[in-house]
Amino acid sequence: MDSKVVGILGGGQLGRMIVEAAHRLNIKTVVLDVGQSSAKQINALDEHVDGSFNDPEAIAKLAAKCDILTVEIEHVNTEALKHIRDTTGIQIYPMPETLELIKDKYLQKKHLIAHGIPVAESSDVESSAEALAAVGASYGYPYMLKSRTMAYDGRGNFVVKTAADIAEALDVLKDRPLYAEKWAPFVKELAVMVVRATDGQVYSYPTVETIHVNNVCHTVFAPARVNDTIQRKAQIMADNAVKSFPGAGIFGVEMFLLANGELLINEIAPRPHNSGHYTIDACVTSQFEAHVRSITGLPMPKGFTSFATTSTNSIMLNVLGAEQPNGEMEDCERRLAYIEGKAATVVGEEAATKEKPLVGVIMGSDS
Ligand code: ADP
Ligand code: MG
Repeated sequence: MDSKVVGILGGGQLGRMIVEAAHRLNIKTVVLDVGQSSAKQINALDEHVDGSFNDPEAIAKLAAKCDILTVEIEHVNTEALKHIRDTTGIQIYPMPETLELIKDKYLQKKHLIAHGIPVAESSDVESSAEALAAVGASYGYPYMLKSRTMAYDGRGNFVVKTAADIAEALDVLKDRPLYAEKWAPFVKELAVMVVRATDGQVYSYPTVETIHVNNVCHTVFAPARVNDTIQRKAQIMADNAVKSFPGAGIFGVEMFLLANGELLINEIAPRPHNSGHYTIDACVTSQFEAHVRSITGLPMPKGFTSFATTSTNSIMLNVLGAEQPNGEMEDCERRLAYIEGKAATVVGEEAATKEKPLVGVIMGSDS
């Protein structure tokens, strides 16, 4: 177990939490990212690689130090990953082919359709007013215009509400490869974390409910506030979607629940996901440990994806720091000051909610 070295492309918040989980299993980690990135800060044991996870040379340097490579982000150089795997035989999970399919959202959609997974209707579209008007005539308004690549936290999406929005849509998403998606009139957004082991077995975590504010996941309710049939149906659909990607690793599967109970898959992340952070506190095994176990071929213990107790309920609140802290950051600071006795009193809504349990509050801004 302690002989394996895992290399991680990307040293942000998700990479940092992969490092934590790996270390508890006595698995070494080497991180490729710029300077003193977040994941490097908690591992002074191993010699990291400074550079870009898109630079073939830096990837080769990382591979030379490792037995297995993994990612915390899908927007990496997949050509370089395929080359290094084919020339050195190093294991890479998720597979570079999976990353390649998923990082282009339109290729991802076509892949899911080819495997019989329900998704919103979509079509690739050229960047012109005529083409966007033709989509509007066919799909109706509103419809969603999306960048095929480099899209996250809503950066890459534009809601075309009427034909009058077309010029602005083209301006906002200029120079990006586009596709259009029919509007999904969802009543809730759901998500399921699924981990795939090297033997092809898939294991799903409970179905959760995600609430987005300004396109960023703000709150996660675990379990989702839906009936058992929908809970189970979402897990089965997520399992089937993840079975379509060979290899191993954890995947976050985002879904739309429609008013008639129908489910559509929105998109899949081939890595730990912010809808899965609640697993750190609420489940037997966290999404990060599950990922490390899956890519290193360690056993998947019985019931490891279950809630820690039969009565566990949890809420994840996404606290954004960095340059654009959201209101929750201030709220946390006020609560901390109160707990530490630095604030004399808590007033108004604070007083009413200070006993509200928050399980697994995560600081950060990854998607
Ligand atoms: P990102 O990569 O930024 O997460 P998504 O494609 O998941 O982008 O879209 C972000 C959010 O936009 C979704 O969580 C959902 O709220 C909304 N959305 C995306 N696609 C559609 C659609 N076809 N119909 C309605 N809402 C959508
Ligand atoms: Mg999304």
